[in-house]
Amino acid sequence: MNILITGGAGFLGSHLCGRFLKDGHSVVCLDNFITGSRDNIEGMLDDPRFSLIEHDISKPICFAEKLDWVLHFASLASPVHYMKYPIKTLKSGLNGTHNCLGIAKAHNAKFLLASTSEIYGDPMVHPQPETYWGNVNSIGIRSCYDESKRGAEALTYAYMRQHNLDVRVIRIFNTYGPNMQFNDGRVVSNFILRALSDKDLIIYGDGSQTRSFCYVDDLVDGITILMGKDYKQPVNLGNLAEYKVMDLANIIIELIKSKSKIKFEPLPQDDPKRRQPDISIAKKVLGWQPKVSLRDGLEKSVEWFVKELKIKNECAE
Ligand code: NAD
Ligand code: UDP
Repeated sequence: MNILITGGAGFLGSHLCGRFLKDGHSVVCLDNFITGSRDNIEGMLDDPRFSLIEHDISKPICFAEKLDWVLHFASLASPVHYMKYPIKTLKSGLNGTHNCLGIAKAHNAKFLLASTSEIYGDPMVHPQPETYWGNVNSIGIRSCYDESKRGAEALTYAYMRQHNLDVRVIRIFNTYGPNMQFNDGRVVSNFILRALSDKDLIIYGDGSQTRSFCYVDDLVDGITILMGKDYKQPVNLGNLAEYKVMDLANIIIELIKSKSKIKFEPLPQDDPKRRQPDISIAKKVLGWQPKVSLRDGLEKSVEWFVKELKIKNECAE
C-alpha cells in the first residue's frame, strides 16, 4: 500500500513511518518541521519506498500517485507548543484535517485521524469511555488544541456521513518513548532530561493530578490493528495504569539514580486533574491492550535520551 502520514517526522509519526516500511508498504511522509525533526526519519531517507514532502498541511496539496491510506498526525501536540502557536494549532486541526479528508476522498483512501484524550477536557467521568462527551473550556488556553481536535472529529464524521468515507478515529492518551523532542515540554521528556543532569524536576500544581502513560510501541501496535478492522467509531488507545505526576517524578529520579530535587510551580489553567482511558472497546474490537509497563517503557526511553545526549554533546565538541 501507499500510505500518507502527515506529521511523519514527529514523535509518533516517525514510529509509524518505520512500522509501515517494515511491513512492506510505501510511505509518503509530510511535515513542515515545526516540531518534527529530520533525525527521526534520517534512517528512512535512502529507502526507495519512502518519500518526504516538506509542506504545511493547513494549505491544500494534491498527490498524483494513488494513496491507499491517509493518516493525519500533523499538529502541535505538546501544551507548551500549542499554547505558543494557538492559531497554527487550530489550522492544523481544522484546515489540515479538511485538506486530508479531501485527499482521502479524491483517492478513495482509508482515513485515520489522530485525535486525543484532550477532547474529554478536565473530565467529570473517570475513567473516560468513548461515549463521554467531555468537559472542555472552549475559550481557555488549551482550547486551541482541544477544540481543533473536536472540530477535526466532527469534520471526519461529516465526511463519513456525506461522502461515505472509510474513517478511523483514535483518541490517544499520553504516549512517550524514543523520538520525543528534547524541547517538547511534556512531562516524561522534561523529567527524564532534568533528572539526567541532576536539575530540579518542576511539578506544576501539587503533583496529585494523574495521567496514564502508554509506551509508543504499544500505541503503534493498536493503530496498525485498527487500520485492518472495519470499525469507524472513535477508539481510545492508552495504558490503564494511572499515576500521579508526583509518583512519576519519584520513579524517574529513582530509575536514573538522580540527585534531582522536586520543586513546585503553579498549575496552568484548565490542566486536567485526572486522566485514564477506558479501553474496553480497544480490547473487544482490536483484541489490543498495552504490554509495556511504565518502568520498562521509561527504561527504554532513558536509554534513548542518554544515547541522543551523547551524540549531541559529541557534535557540539
Ligand atoms: P510531535 O510534535 O512530535 O509531532 C507532530 C508533527 O506534526 C511534527 O513533526 C510537526 O512538525 C508536524 N506538524 C505540525 N503542524 C504541521 C502542519 N501544519 N503541517 C505539517 N506538519 C505539521 O507530536 P506527537 O506526539 O508525535 O503527536 C502526533 C499526533 O498525535 C498529533 O496530532 C497529536 O495531537 C496526537 N496525539 C499525541 C499524543 C501523545 O501523547 N504523544 C496524545 C494525544 C494525541
Ligand atoms: N507537568 C509537570 N511538569 C512538567 C511538565 C508537565 O508537572 O515539567 C504536568 C502538567 O501540568 C500536567 C502533566 O504533567 O498536569 C502532564 O503534562 P503534559 O504536558 O505531559 O501533557 P498533558 O497531559 O497535560 O497534555
